Amino acid sequence: MNDALMSTYARLPVAFARGAGALLWDAAGREYLDAVSGVAVCGLGHAHPAVAEAVCTQAGTLVHTSNLYEIPLQAELAARLTERAGMDAAFFCNSGAEANEAAIKLARLYGHRRGVAQPAVVVAEGSFHGRTLATLTATGNRRVQAGFEPLVQGFLRVPYNDLDGLRAVAQNSPNAVAVLLEPVQGEGGVRVPDPGYLAGVRALCDEFGWLMMLDEVQTGLGRTGEWFGFQHEAVRPDVIALAKGLGNGIPIGACLARGEAATVFTPGTHASTFGGNPLACAAALAVVRTIAEQDLVRRAAQLGERIRDGLAHGLSPASGVREIRGRGLMIGVELDRPCADLVRRALDRGVLINVTAERVVRLLPPLILSDDQADRIVTEVCGLVQSFCAAA
Ligand SMILES: *Cc1c(COP(=O)(O)O)cnc(C)c1O
Repeated sequence: MNDALMSTYARLPVAFARGAGALLWDAAGREYLDAVSGVAVCGLGHAHPAVAEAVCTQAGTLVHTSNLYEIPLQAELAARLTERAGMDAAFFCNSGAEANEAAIKLARLYGHRRGVAQPAVVVAEGSFHGRTLATLTATGNRRVQAGFEPLVQGFLRVPYNDLDGLRAVAQNSPNAVAVLLEPVQGEGGVRVPDPGYLAGVRALCDEFGWLMMLDEVQTGLGRTGEWFGFQHEAVRPDVIALAKGLGNGIPIGACLARGEAATVFTPGTHASTFGGNPLACAAALAVVRTIAEQDLVRRAAQLGERIRDGLAHGLSPASGVREIRGRGLMIGVELDRPCADLVRRALDRGVLINVTAERVVRLLPPLILSDDQADRIVTEVCGLVQSFCAAA
């Protein structure tokens, strides 16, 4: 069936024919409860009426013009996002990797402006920033990089959640001009930094004149129980990258910046053919409006607590469970052994889950989940983890 596809994915043997909210159905009509949301993309669930309506209406009106012309929907989306994030200006693209590419290019221009001839961006071990050459270089996972050498120059690596390591790099690396970090590492295993980490990063950035750039591609748009992951601490970054949840499945990414960082790009320095076209912006505006109107940020916080409490309760006697952690609806259950097999076992039970960093069960359910659906996810995951650990 996939003979004509390049084999970049090891796909599960299921194809979904339609969805509604947190539910999906395959062609045979079998129902699945979705605790992955297309990897943190469909935060409003599948076939959300507000997004469907916005996309259908816009598709029947005007899909694409070009950034050669004014695009009022893009300007409106920029206003809504920057006011939510406390930023000044937005650049639109089509994916998370592109949003990070924009941030990296912005950092290099910023560095050159400050007279640094070979500007470097500080990135973390265990991070994930995308699959383009620059973003896979920024990614702190050798398996993402292997075979793609030569990698891109101009990155410095530090341990995540380690302010002393960051200070050491700051003191020894005059080329460093920015940091790029995830507020919670997603692909790296739902790693939540210690309280005060982001504030400490902010203080170091201020001290050394660096841009604080946050990759909010997975954490943004309410996922963690705040609009943006940085809002769990009283800090404001200079640059943030968004994508995943922004269009609820319509491809759109954004790089937001404030202050000096917002003035770095000038005409001709960066561009995207599709970026911020009317269709994508109509979808994203519907997403932002719906999250606000339905108070889904608070709901994500409540649901996250409910699920983590349920998991802690249900898994407390289970050996093999190292830690249950997360923020809002970005939840990880770390086991003491590789557990990729659990994804297939959950699928057999009609539940979609994810495993990342080999041994972390990752849950990213939609923000519109019902309490009953949240409880079902807890019951299923507890049962699966317990029998998996007992058998192994
Ligand atoms: C998914 C992800 C990316 C890459 O996004 P793409 O849209 O696949 O390019 C970048 N950063 C983080 C934190 C992500 O979770």
